[in-house]
This record gives sequence, structure tokens and C-alpha cells, in this order.
Amino acid sequence: MEVIVAKFGGSSLCNSSQFKKVKDIVLSDDRRCYIVPSAPGKRASGDYKITDLLYLCHQHVKKSLPFDELLNLIEDRYTILCGELNLTLDISKYLIELKEKMLTGVSEDFVASRGEYLNGLILAEYLGYEFIDAADIIVFKKSGSLDEVATYDAIRNRLSKVPKAVIPGFYGASKDGMIKTFSRGGSDITGAIIARGVGATVYENWTDVSGFLMADPRIVNDPKPIDEVTYKELRELSYMGANVFHEEAIFPVKNEGIPINIKNTNDPQCKGTFILNEKHKVKPGSITGIAGKKDFTVIAIEKTLMNKEIGYCRRILSILENNNVPFEHIPSGIDSISLVIDDSELDNKIDKILEEIEVQCKPDSLETYPNMALIAVVGEGIIKTKGISAKVFQALSKKDINIRMINQGSSELSIIVGVENEDFEDAIRVVYKAFED
Ligand code: ADP
Ligand code: ASP
Ligand code: MG
Repeated sequence: MEVIVAKFGGSSLCNSSQFKKVKDIVLSDDRRCYIVPSAPGKRASGDYKITDLLYLCHQHVKKSLPFDELLNLIEDRYTILCGELNLTLDISKYLIELKEKMLTGVSEDFVASRGEYLNGLILAEYLGYEFIDAADIIVFKKSGSLDEVATYDAIRNRLSKVPKAVIPGFYGASKDGMIKTFSRGGSDITGAIIARGVGATVYENWTDVSGFLMADPRIVNDPKPIDEVTYKELRELSYMGANVFHEEAIFPVKNEGIPINIKNTNDPQCKGTFILNEKHKVKPGSITGIAGKKDFTVIAIEKTLMNKEIGYCRRILSILENNNVPFEHIPSGIDSISLVIDDSELDNKIDKILEEIEVQCKPDSLETYPNMALIAVVGEGIIKTKGISAKVFQALSKKDINIRMINQGSSELSIIVGVENEDFEDAIRVVYKAFED
């Protein structure tokens, strides 16, 4: 029997009219058996996401600041939803319980997870599906990583007896019952795990755009949708900031060959984007998409005859390792090496790292360059075609954008360029324009 797992994101479930659209979609195909909801998202720009409010509440409790007003905002959203959907669910009971638990001290993960938990209860009653708490079937190890064996056993055992269910996204629990969440946007991961666990025919990921677009629609006006993207391309694009789909959500379904279909809740007829092992056709000279992230720092190290000095690079990298700092790229020349590091990983460690490089590696020069943005141009077609980099560089130079770094990913699936943070949006727009057709 064919089974579809369908995950609905926060904007797809932000108010009662969105819930109605979701119900129509779910009930229009009998194969949509397992539904994974996120917490309610923003209803309009300037509105709050429930998950953000929950994190904020927890911060207030930790600092012993009043949090009633924040909690009221959360309570109102759920109470209005239940009222408008005519549910019998006594949501106030759960909200009172949440407040009590917060006052007695619960973990941040527990508080954050309640956004999905409560939305799951609501969606289950509204669809007439059974509610299954993700804490019972998504099992985390003590270390915080997924316990795959226990999780897939639990999914098979539990879901084989339940033909239709709602399972909240974003969290699970360790064997001793402690709630743990995935990283932000992690309901995509829950959906992928459930899809693998039940051997789904397809994993549908319903959001507020018509699939994966060639560039971020908040930067490029009306970018073209992508019909098909490979898992590898998607991983590069989502890692580099195209956050329509969580980059780690690819792994559970990739090896099983379960296709992912990204679809638009507000335009269900549109076929959206299919994420597959292989594309049906790669158009030579074309790219699949562009993505990028701001706020990187480059540490540039120069030393004459660096290339002859055995272990030089290792020493630099072990300094990063000892400071628990990962790097993004390490472009190198004969006498130079640069470390490209995400600012969010650097915290306040930069001075210590520089000092250690100075002492242990004795460079001729050591400079740091902050405020760099990275842009990735991604496509299976890149390796097959000459002139793609030339087209990228030409587009940037025409707009007078200075390229601070170039790196052709060793996957040969992407070309990565570094530009000033302030040129980021312009750079994405001109590169998109160059490949639009
Ligand atoms: P959901 O709440 O459904 O999980 P997200 O907000 O996580 O939705 O992801 C959808 C958003 O991702 C879109 O509204 C869009 O603004 C943003 N986005 C960024 N890059 C892209 C891209 N390349 N294609 C589509 N959407 C993108
Ligand atoms: N609600 C969570 C978040 O905002 C998870 C998700 O939406 O996927 O990050
Ligand atoms: Mg998301």
C-alpha cells in the first residue's frame, strides 16, 4: 500500500483558514497517512512565530523576569485556533500545565517543543487522526544525536498499528524521558525520519512557496521554481542558506530513495519541486540555484616557503580544533593559507586563536578580514560545462562587486565566491539574472 508522509510548516498552520487548507489537502489523497505539523508560524510580517515566543518565555523564566504577557500571546493563538475550528479539545488545561511546569523549572528544549506538541493535538482532532507524541517514537541518545535503531524500531512498532496519525515535528525524547529538539527548522527532519520509518512512497514537505526556487525570494523578485533537484544539490543549497528545507532532513530519505516533494499549501495544484537521486535531464550550461550566507571572517596567514614546511597546515588546524571552532573553507596558495570561519562559531575566540597562530606558527603576516558573505552557485551541470565561472565573475564585475575569495567545491557541484557583506544581495541578484534563462 502506498503511504505519503506530509509535513506542514509553520506558515501552513498559522491560523484557522490555513488549517482548513491543510485539511483539504490531507483528505484529498487517501495515501496521506502520517502528518507532521510545525508550531504556528507568522500570520503576516511583523507577527511572532510561536517557537520564538516559547524560547523568549524560557529566557524570561531563567532570568526571573515576568513572562505572563508573552505566555498570553501564546495562549491566545491556540485558544483562538481551537475556537475557530470548533474543537472539543480543552487547550486551557495544557496551557495551565505548561505554565506550572515552566515555574518549577523545565529545560529550554521542553518549552520549545510545546509549540509543535499543542499544534499536533489540535491538528489531530481537526483531521480526525490519532495523535502520537513524538516523544514516544523519536528517540535521542544522551549525547543529543538521534538513536536510529531505537527510533526506527519504535516507529515501526507503533505506526504499524495506527493507519492515520498526526506526529508533531521538531522534538523527541531520550530513553529516560527528557525532551530534546532538533535544531531550528527541525520539523523537516521529523518528517524525513517518519517517511523512512514507514517506507513512504513520497515525503511531501508543504510550505508557503511553490517549491525550491532558484534563489531566495526575499532577495530576488519572483525567482523561477526548480522542478527537480538532486539530494546533493539540495544539500549544498540548503547548507548555504536556502533554508526552505533543513539540510539534515535529506539524510534519512536519501539512501532509501524516497523522493521529497516540496509543495505550496497556498497553491496545491502546483507540482512543486522533486528532490531525487538523479535528475531526469541536466541542461548544459544551466545552474540549479544560488544561495548564500553573510557574516564570515577570514584569517589570512602568509609565510614564505610554507609549502615546504611539514605539518604547518596541521598546526593551524589543530589550533582551531583546540578552540572548538570549525572552518568553512581553507583556500590556499604556495605561501599562504586562509581560514574562512562562520562568525557564529567564533564567539569571542578570535583573539586567542590569533595569538596561538602567532606563537605556534610564526607567520610573516597574519591579517583578519571580517564581514564576508559567501555565495554558492550550484548545479550538476557545472562540471559538464565550460564558462560557468566566467559568467559568474562577469556578472559580478559588471556590477562592480569585488570578489574576495573563489572556491570551486571539490564536489564540483558548486562554485563559491566571497564578497563583502554589503554587496551580498546585489551579488545574488546579478548572478541570478545571468543564469535566469
Ligand atoms: P516552513 O515554515 O514551511 O518550514 P520556512 O520558513 O522554513 O517554511 O521556509 C520557507 C521559506 O524559505 C520561504 O518562505 C522563503 O522565504 C525561504 N527561502 C529561502 N531560500 C529559498 C529558496 N531558494 N526557495 C524557496 N524558498 C526559500
Ligand atoms: N518550530 C520550529 C522552529 O521554528 C521547528 C520548525 O518549524 O521546523 O524552528
Ligand atoms: Mg522550515
